[in-house]
Formats: sequence, structure tokens, C-alpha cells
Amino acid sequence: MLQAAIELAFQSDCQYRHGAIIARASRPLFKGYNRNKTHPKWGVGHRDKIHAELDAIRQAHYAGCEQMLYGATIYVARSDKGISKPCEWCQAWLKKYNMTVIHT
Ligand SMILES: [Zn+2]
Repeated sequence: MLQAAIELAFQSDCQYRHGAIIARASRPLFKGYNRNKTHPKWGVGHRDKIHAELDAIRQAHYAGCEQMLYGATIYVARSDKGISKPCEWCQAWLKKYNMTVIHT
């Protein structure tokens, strides 16, 4: 799944490209990558770029599937295979949904 997240990261338009996949029982459900644009709800700190983790979470919200996020596993990876540990802002969201985090 991490390899799939790495491939996803290549779609990003940011300098450090991250991809994220939210899965349940090894089945990928929601995917995201970081975006070089702001968003009032999903941007980091409400004013910065959208991170891959939150891009994936918002896909679930848009699909009306927020409840599927609880207890899910999120895979986060960087296109250059560098460290892709979620930032504090994203971690707060991941904690809210009690997600297991696996990152490169
Ligand atoms: Zn983040």
C-alpha cells in the first residue's frame, strides 16, 4: 500500500510530494495527495496548503462516508521516499478518527 501511496504522490504539484491512502482491511478507500492551494477547512492551520492526509479525508467527507474513517489505516508516503510523518495538524485529524498511521 505504501508503494501505491508513493505513486499517488507523483500527482502532487508541491515541492515535496506526498500521497496518502486510507484503507480498511487492506482495501484502499480514499486517496489524496498534497496540493499547492489553500482551503478554509482542509488547509493546514486553515490557511496553508492541503496535505495529502487531509486531501484523502476530505474525499471521504465529500462522499458522505465520514464514518468509514474511524479505525481505518492511513498510508502516507513521499515521491522521493523521504520521511513522510504527518504534521501536528494532520495528526490531530488522524487521532480524531483513531486511525493507524503507516508512513515512509
Ligand atoms: Zn500535514
